[in-house]
Amino acid sequence: MSPTPRTELLRLEGVRKSFGDNVVLRDVDLAVEPGQCVVLIGASGSGKSTLLRCVNLLEVVDDGIITFDGRDITDPRVDGDEVRARMGMVFQAYNLFPHLDVIGNVTLALRLVHGVEPDEARTRGLAMLDRVGLAEKAGARPDDLSGGQQQRVAIARALVANPRLMLLDEVTSALDPELVGEVLDLLGELKAEGVTMLLNTHEMGFARDVADQVCFLHDGRIHEQGPPARVIDDPQEERTRAFLSRIR
Ligand code: ADP
Ligand code: MG
Repeated sequence: MSPTPRTELLRLEGVRKSFGDNVVLRDVDLAVEPGQCVVLIGASGSGKSTLLRCVNLLEVVDDGIITFDGRDITDPRVDGDEVRARMGMVFQAYNLFPHLDVIGNVTLALRLVHGVEPDEARTRGLAMLDRVGLAEKAGARPDDLSGGQQQRVAIARALVANPRLMLLDEVTSALDPELVGEVLDLLGELKAEGVTMLLNTHEMGFARDVADQVCFLHDGRIHEQGPPARVIDDPQEERTRAFLSRIR
C-alpha cells in the first residue's frame, strides 16, 4: 500500500461495518484534507451516522483502515479516548448537561479530559462562547436557551479544545426551521476559518455553498462523490438523482 499523503488528515480505506446480519458500511473509501468540509448525504439508514461513529471510534470497524493525523486508529492498541480528545463531535440532540450552566458545559471536558486549569478553561470557554455569539449566555442553563442556541453551545463545547477534526451528525435536524440558519451560518464561518469538518446533513443548500466534497451514501456504499457542483447539481448516478429528487 502506498504511504498516506501528508496532506490528508483523515482517510478511510475499505471500511466495513455490520450489526449482526445487517451490513451497514461496505468498502467505504473517503479522504478529508485539512480545512476541508466533506458532507455525507443519503437516505435515512444509509450508514451516515455509523460512518461518523466509526471515525470517532464509538463503533469498531469490522474491516478496513482509518488513518487520522498520520496514524492507523483502527489498530486495537490505540487509545480511543486519546483519539476522541483530538476530534470534536456534535450530535443531532445537543446532549448538553442540564444541571450545568453554559460555561460549565463548554469547559467540562477541557478541565476533566484535557487537564486545563479552571481559570484558563473559563477564559477559553468565554472566548469560544463569544465566537459563537453567546457570550452573554455563559451563566444561563441549557433549558433557558433556544434549540439553535443550545446547538451553538454544543459546537462551542466541541471546538474549545482545538480539535483537528469536527464530526457533526445532522446537527440541524432537531431544530425548528427558523433556527436552522443560525447553526448553518456558524458552520459556514468555521469552514471559512479553516476548521476541518466531516458532517452529514439533508440541507442541500448548505452542502452546495460550503462543502468541498459531497459523498452520496446508499446502502452503506459511497455511490458518488465529488464537488457539490457535480454530485448535487449534475449527478451521474441514477440513485443519486432519485435521492435528490425526493428531498427537494
Ligand atoms: P443514517 O445515519 O444514514 O440514517 P445509520 O448509520 O444510523 O444511518 O444506520 C444504518 C443502519 O445501521 C440502519 O439499518 C440502523 O438500523 C443500523 N444501526 C445503526 N446503529 C446500530 C446499532 N448500534 N446496532 C444495530 N444496528 C444499528
Ligand atoms: Mg443518522
